Parts: sequence; structure tokens; C-alpha cells
Amino acid sequence: MSADLSVDDLKALVRTVPDFPHRGIQFRDITTLLSHPQGFAASVRHLARFASEAGAQKIAGMEARGFIFGAAVAVELGIGFLPVRKPGKLPVEIIGIDYDLEYGQDRLEIDPGAVNPGETIVIVDDLIATGGTARATAQLLRKAGAEVGHAVFVIDLPDLGGADTLRAADVAVHALMHFDGE
Ligand code: AMP
Repeated sequence: MSADLSVDDLKALVRTVPDFPHRGIQFRDITTLLSHPQGFAASVRHLARFASEAGAQKIAGMEARGFIFGAAVAVELGIGFLPVRKPGKLPVEIIGIDYDLEYGQDRLEIDPGAVNPGETIVIVDDLIATGGTARATAQLLRKAGAEVGHAVFVIDLPDLGGADTLRAADVAVHALMHFDGE
């Protein structure tokens, strides 16, 4: 049963691919975790518990891997899911935010009509590295009127300081597992 899988078991289901997409990056690939039924289910339940304790009324997940875990957590908790999209995908009037990456810039967009004023939205993504993506997501959701105080991840890379970045933006970080290095 999935309840028997420890966090170490779940960590062992994440595949590490060296030098992807750039030399020196250890890519933490969740494909192997997703294809393990008990591992995927147990991961979702852990994230759902974090989100529930954070008072989630809705889950927001970032394209693309945040959709996988975020949507599953929303179903587990019986609440709605808000997709945070890459530019140009939504067919309605959107609000967006541009943010800096290590190399270059990126942009995220949402349908502001998907946010009820004052509702508590918990962010879910597969991994936090620098925290830039999650911080931009929190800013965007707040701009739309949401209360955002918690973000939930399968993986944290603590050496990259993402949790500190989010904490400075008044967002608490909860992660199922940690990996050293980049
Ligand atoms: P960041 O904005 O720096 O926190 O980056 C977060 C996003 O980049 C996450 O949604 C991850 O999917 C992806 N990412 C960054 N570093 C890695 C890594 N070492 N392995 C896998 N995905 C990563």
C-alpha cells in the first residue's frame, strides 16, 4: 500500500539526470515518480496534507509540472484548481507578470476571474530552485485578490535559497523532500 512508502522511498523514485539542460545542473526528473502508482499517490497525499493544513480553498499550479501535482492535490481535497499559464494560452482577458530567470526573463498569466476575492490559494509545483517562479505566482495571485501564504513542493533544492526568497515575500514553503546541490 502507498501508505507504507517512506519519504526516502519516494526520493529514490526521482531520477537524477546530470548536466541537463545545462552543464553542471542535476536535473531532478519526476517522470519516474509519476509512473509509480503508489509513489505518485503517496506524494499527492503528502502535498494535500500540507495544503489542507495551510487552509487551502483553491490550488494554483504552474505550467507544466505544477499542473500534474496541483490538479491531483485539488481533487484529493475536493477544491478547485487554477492553472498558472505560460503566455498566450488563455482565451480571456488575462493579468500577467514578467519575472527574471537565471538567464533571461519569463512570464506567467492567469484568468483573474478564476480568483474569488479574499480566498486562500495554495501554490503547488514539482520543484523549488531559486523560488523566482513561485514568488511571481504569489504576486500574480495576490494582484487578482487572493490570500497567498503557503507554497507546497515535491522537491526543494535548499542550496539555491528558494525557500528564503519566498519567506521574504511572506510565503511559507513546505517540501516533501530535499536534494543537495543545484
Ligand atoms: P525556480 O523559479 O528557480 O524556483 O525554478 C523552478 C522551476 O524550474 C520548477 O518549476 C522546476 O520545474 C524547474 N527546475 C529548476 N531547477 C531544476 C532542477 N535541478 N531539476 C528539475 N527541474 C528544475
